[in-house]
Amino acid sequence: MLHTLTIQEARKGLDNRTFSSVELTQACLGRITERNDEINAFITVTKELALEEAKYADGQIAKGKATQLTGIPFGVKDAICVKGIRSTGGATILDNYIPPHEATVITKIRQQGAVLLGKQNCDSFGHGASNENSMYGSVKNPKNTTKVPGGSSGGSAAAVADNQCIFSIAEDTGGSIRQPAGMCGVVGMRPSYGRNSRYGCMPLASSLDTIGPITKTVEDAAIIMEIIAGKDERDATTVADPVPDYTEACQKDISGLTIGIPKEYFTLGGVDPEITEAIARYVTQLEKKGCTIKEVSLPHTKYAVAVYYIVVPSEDSANLARLDGIRYGMQAKAETVYDTYSKSRSQGFPEEVKRRIMIGTYALSAGYFDAYYKKAQKVRTCIRQDFTNAFSSVDALITPTSPFAAFGLGQKTADPLRMYLADVMVSPASLAGVPAISIPAGNTSEGLPIGLQVIGPRLGESTVLQIGNSLFTQ
Ligand code: GLN
Repeated sequence: MLHTLTIQEARKGLDNRTFSSVELTQACLGRITERNDEINAFITVTKELALEEAKYADGQIAKGKATQLTGIPFGVKDAICVKGIRSTGGATILDNYIPPHEATVITKIRQQGAVLLGKQNCDSFGHGASNENSMYGSVKNPKNTTKVPGGSSGGSAAAVADNQCIFSIAEDTGGSIRQPAGMCGVVGMRPSYGRNSRYGCMPLASSLDTIGPITKTVEDAAIIMEIIAGKDERDATTVADPVPDYTEACQKDISGLTIGIPKEYFTLGGVDPEITEAIARYVTQLEKKGCTIKEVSLPHTKYAVAVYYIVVPSEDSANLARLDGIRYGMQAKAETVYDTYSKSRSQGFPEEVKRRIMIGTYALSAGYFDAYYKKAQKVRTCIRQDFTNAFSSVDALITPTSPFAAFGLGQKTADPLRMYLADVMVSPASLAGVPAISIPAGNTSEGLPIGLQVIGPRLGESTVLQIGNSLFTQ
């Protein structure tokens, strides 16, 4: 049962020589082999490389050279590039793409000696909330295989929840780490925009994209955040602020903190009453732990999904222009240059990606730029201002991660607008660039995980982790 361990437990076992990294890696690979046909969490499994890396890690441990992640197996969302390893982004236009470069975050993790198990299934280039937009098949929720795992990092969340890896690294533009973590019953953290490098992440919306961890505990998320955060000369949007000791922050007492409950999150989007009740139970816990609870208002929350679905497709349509069948990946057979572009893009992207390219191209076109894109950016500023106002009187906000638990496979695919509403609780923090974590908060009567979201002020990762850990370990 080595594959069920957390990062902290695995570290202890490896350091005490209770088991080796090869044994731990074999346990995860065995679990992937046993489960991947059904759950479909991995697109590529790097078995030989993993065993080689594990063997090397065991050598380092024997020499007393182990660092925090030495010998610990992990998986990476396929929209994040790993040098020399096929990275499809969940779309066949990159079916044969082997990146010559690597995401800075992944390099930092691998320099610590972590063992790469493979690349995880996701909605194509992060477009989705259910993992049904992957061209490599849907991922199933390990807690109930008739349900979606959430998205777009469904494979990464499902793999952690199903103990196929010890942790995952994924991307969150508009909720893709938090929402699937919530639906699969694990921990998922989105950092502040600019806290972690985006270099090597296949871009969805460059002004919102972030990379973060999906883990089994909040302390594990803190360990990963501490390793991956920081300035990167390859990403000009990263900030130079020193990286705090997040692990220590997890241990801090939360008494004396003021926690805001944003009323709009409970009145918009038809929140399942079972979820409202679960969050209320956690709020009572916060009071018992000495926190002051305060109702706050973020009045522009109701526009977040509409703004998100103008800003994101706009940036997205520009970013995806580079995938044309010429520069990278798959090239469709065609007679003319125009047909090469057209056929490669029609065949290599799924419906949802094409829909967003069309919406974004339209919103950015000369005649509509002011009416759509510019207006959306103005409202985005109002949404950001709502958070700034709220954080002038509270330390953090508590909300559900999603208005509903995992839904049935196929239930929302026919209606993209209904699918977009799944982002109602996660997109506002993304638009504002503030950090947020989703932690498991019990189950519905149907036995499906409920996610609780803690949102903090910009660069307030320590507070988010502190409150998250206090609720997680209670
Ligand atoms: N549901 C969001 C979308 O489809 C998630 C995006 C993301 O965070 N990658 O755009």
